[in-house]
Amino acid sequence: MITGKNYIGNNLSEKGNKTYKTFNPKLNIKNEYNFHEATLEEVNEAVILAHNTFKEYRNVSGTKRADFLNAIADEIMDLGDELVQTYMSETGLPEGRAAGERGRTIFQLRSFAELVANDEWRDNTIDEAVPDRVPMPMSDIRKTYIALGPVVVFGASNFPLAYSTAGGDTASALAAGCPVIVKSHPMHAGTGELVASAIIKAAERTGMPNGVFSNLNSSGIEVGVQLVSHPKVKAVGFTGSIKGGRALYDLAAKREEPIPVFAEMGSINPVIITPNAISKRGEALATTYAGSITMGTGQFCTNPGLILTIAGNETEAFIKDLAAKTTAIDPQCMLHPNIKSNYTRVGNDVTSQNGLEVVSKYEAIVADNFAPSQISTVSGTDFLINPKMHQEVFGPFSLVVRCKDEAQLVEIIEGLEGQLTGTILAEEEDYANLPEIVDALQNRVGRIIFNGVPTGVEVCDSMTHGGPYPASSDSRFTAVGTGAIKRWVRPFSYQDFPKELLPQSLK
Ligand code: NAP
Repeated sequence: MITGKNYIGNNLSEKGNKTYKTFNPKLNIKNEYNFHEATLEEVNEAVILAHNTFKEYRNVSGTKRADFLNAIADEIMDLGDELVQTYMSETGLPEGRAAGERGRTIFQLRSFAELVANDEWRDNTIDEAVPDRVPMPMSDIRKTYIALGPVVVFGASNFPLAYSTAGGDTASALAAGCPVIVKSHPMHAGTGELVASAIIKAAERTGMPNGVFSNLNSSGIEVGVQLVSHPKVKAVGFTGSIKGGRALYDLAAKREEPIPVFAEMGSINPVIITPNAISKRGEALATTYAGSITMGTGQFCTNPGLILTIAGNETEAFIKDLAAKTTAIDPQCMLHPNIKSNYTRVGNDVTSQNGLEVVSKYEAIVADNFAPSQISTVSGTDFLINPKMHQEVFGPFSLVVRCKDEAQLVEIIEGLEGQLTGTILAEEEDYANLPEIVDALQNRVGRIIFNGVPTGVEVCDSMTHGGPYPASSDSRFTAVGTGAIKRWVRPFSYQDFPKELLPQSLK
């Protein structure tokens, strides 16, 4: 049941008078519930509780933490249709997407449970003592990874389940032994509260200490700023805009004790299509890419927003075909009126640049909050000199660049900002020419997809979802897959410790 209150550990709290509602973008009306924005006092209570809990929670065994994560997954499933209906009413997304994203969330929780059920993930290393080494004896040194402390999680607007309240950041931080305080996303506060109630039930059921999880409502930046500034908070996970992620990163760096902010931000995900690929299967690629560009109304961090080609007659035909196929797909609802107005504003900024031609735009009248798709094109020379064209247009939009030759293509790749993904669509006869492109791309992205689409991010051990700035704030880490746990731990060495005092896994 939605109450509109904050969870400070296991207790509901509503100390403030400021309230807000979520919005149903499909019906273009506000939803029913009032959410109480957390006060400074409540922020402080949640952090102090997390800080005190950390002393106990960091020593809870891996198997018990696994039980907790599995219990969260069970409790989320038990929320049943109320969760699905709330999700739909706060996002405009269809039932299938709600169920699919819930499945992904459950899978992530269970993956981290499996990971921490034993200590292998800690990459423990042992250098045994060599007392008779000359000229100096060698000490016994044993290294492991230990939890950082309370983590603040800012969920994403575009993934209310999988990258929000009990999403990848929360699951990986809890798995690592860190208490979590979620700064609830105001666009889906009801979905967030339901999931928070499932986490609290799971914590109580599996005997976790009170304060291992809190959920704070807010509809402005104050609560987030207070959380990131709080001296007892030790790390931050964020998914959203470059502006928001950067502001929080800078704030964390200015603290007396700076802390890490793992922010996953914007990306235009360049796709390179060789002339051979266009020649052999241009029509099929246009169909596939029309689907990828419009999937989820383009509201994916891996949306293919930039397509790099080599100019030529077949390329011209491909661009027209892609544009026609993309704009033939019926527009869908965006997550929120603000996301729609951002789409229109940034899209207009990009398409008003010199040399850019709109090839096709969905022209029929669309309902409020629905997004008309759009394909534009520009020459490589114009694209190279104008960084405004490199902006992320968050929605069903893609810009096709016609490079004059491969040298210009490589120059463009080298000049791009950091990206989550790059994609290469090529034929076997291109392989000999690809190393230079792969090399340039590898320096700009976190993952290269070969002959596929960037949308769809598998949750597995080998996944890298991150990339050079601004795709993420620290390209050494992934936000998706079990490797994400490494963001919330630090290496720690025991030197010459008596066996009795060592943790079990280092004995
Ligand atoms: P956002 O505006 O960056 O907000 C994400 C979260 O961070 C919200 O909870 C927000 O709080 C908080 N926040 C933002 N700026 C802050 C600041 N300066 N200080 C403290 N907290 C701050 O992202 P969004 O709401 O998910 O979507 C907005 C736009 O971000 C989209 O239109 C899109 O352009 C982009 N976006 C990109 C991706 C991607 O994967 N590339 C994903 C999602 C969104 P409040 O809302 O309460 O202020």
